[in-house]
Amino acid sequence: MMQYPLILTSLFERAGKLFPDVEIVSRRPDSSIHRYTYREWHTRARALAAALQRSGIRPGDRVATLMWNHYAHLEAYFAIPVIGGIVHTLNLRLHSDELAYIINDAEDRILLVDDVLLPVFEKIRHRVNLERVIVFPFSGIPIPCSYEDYEAIIQQSDADPVYPNLDENDGISMCYTSGTTGKPKGVVYSHRAIALHSYSISLPDNFSISRKDTILAAMSMFHANAWGFPFAAVMNGSKLVLPGPNLQPESLLELLSTERVTLTGAVPTVWLSVASALEKEPQRWPLDPRLRIVVGGSACPEVLFRRLDRFGVQVIQAWGLTETAPIATVSNLHPRIAASTDDSRYELRARQGIPVPFLDLRATDDSGEVPWDGTTPGEVQVKGPFVTASYFKMPDESTKWTYDGWLRTGDVATIDGAGSVKITDRAKDLIKSGGEWISSVDVENALVAHSSVVEAAVVAVPHPKWQERPLALIVLKEGAKVSEEDLRALLLKTFAKWQLPDGYVFVDELPHTSTGKLRKSELRDRYRNWACRIHDADQHSAVLTPG
Ligand code: ADP
Repeated sequence: MMQYPLILTSLFERAGKLFPDVEIVSRRPDSSIHRYTYREWHTRARALAAALQRSGIRPGDRVATLMWNHYAHLEAYFAIPVIGGIVHTLNLRLHSDELAYIINDAEDRILLVDDVLLPVFEKIRHRVNLERVIVFPFSGIPIPCSYEDYEAIIQQSDADPVYPNLDENDGISMCYTSGTTGKPKGVVYSHRAIALHSYSISLPDNFSISRKDTILAAMSMFHANAWGFPFAAVMNGSKLVLPGPNLQPESLLELLSTERVTLTGAVPTVWLSVASALEKEPQRWPLDPRLRIVVGGSACPEVLFRRLDRFGVQVIQAWGLTETAPIATVSNLHPRIAASTDDSRYELRARQGIPVPFLDLRATDDSGEVPWDGTTPGEVQVKGPFVTASYFKMPDESTKWTYDGWLRTGDVATIDGAGSVKITDRAKDLIKSGGEWISSVDVENALVAHSSVVEAAVVAVPHPKWQERPLALIVLKEGAKVSEEDLRALLLKTFAKWQLPDGYVFVDELPHTSTGKLRKSELRDRYRNWACRIHDADQHSAVLTPG
């Protein structure tokens, strides 16, 4: 066989030639719709690629994006890798300290930023080393003259890019993931990883993606490549719908129904709100009978399957990590589930599912690999061509991998006889609120920096909308008095507002293990029913629509 590399350039050129009339639909910040075809996308992405190449971007260089989901972000997704660059997607919800750290750590040379996100960038402008900042006029507000205009660059670019000879193991995109503590770590995806991942998720028993599909990528393009949907859409020639900054349920439902969407995906928080809006006005949103919704990022509550089933919508649960590109297991309606009686069918569907092709998976405890008996829990470990082998610039960071090369996911699961994984707990000390991480350890460290705090524990409590929210348990020095407001003000110096605990409970002491560690599992159980008090009506709308 030919030693032909699995690189994105081939998919990019193929899409330009074979799918010129397929549409890409984007929602602008004012809710109006932008519509063009793969033909225009391909021409503009080539123009961007040529302009970036002329300005000195060479294979391996990082170009960052601070952008919502829309057509220009899709242009960047391909224009940068086809000239050998790496698209570094920035999570716009991070605290400015973290964002500045990430840009500098990745040594990003150029930033592409939406005009509406300039306020996020301006907070860190003087703390980052970028050669150029190019602003995409997403909302059309005038671009300050200190920045370059994305549209002007596209229009002035009249040459063709020169495609370099790339190796399939070269980087294509990168994304930072927050660890349990310390600085975020960069994961670099290779051309080969993205090609195989796109293939894998497109298979009939996974998301069954084809040219007949219209795909709404409702998960962020700045988070693990929007679960690979944009790449898979281009590979298959599917129509793509990109929701911009507006993830409100009515807006999503309007796109789902008017564009006749057949496949979409996002975290459970998004679909719980969509289900409520649908239940309120079922006639208003006629959905395509082929619609599949991929739910992932956090466990999909069983009730969501039941609620969406009533509208004939098929829910597919997926599990994975930034480190797995990210889709690692899929729970779909395979024959065993289809043949089950009602309630056991829901129980099976609410599992995280079976590993996708090429992804090896096992669960281990102290005595080795646990049996596939559906009851013995173990930490999930994975291996495969789209599993990261090391973090960016951290070749010596080895605790995340076993001596024989498996990635430790930090998730605890049982595996049944059919190989279906059920996540039962999380070994890593993180809280996932609306699909976004909050490090308990980092919040605890910040709290104990207060002179009156002796010890602090931050645990996840269940929440109906955000799945999990942080609750802080605080031991104060004898006789000391500290208000909740003092603690909030302290945390706001380092954390985004949505990362702050929903409550602060002052306790006399905290439970510890024999080795002196906080006994978090006991605290989680004790506060399981703690009534979530949400500050300023719904502060976490920040999670979906910052600003
Ligand atoms: P992403 O949010 O894109 O899946 P992250 O790396 O941010 O990637 O988060 C990965 C973690 O999210 C997993 O280790 C797991 O704890 C949790 N997670 C993701 N999907 C699911 C799921 N379907 N069920 C339970 N937990 C999940």
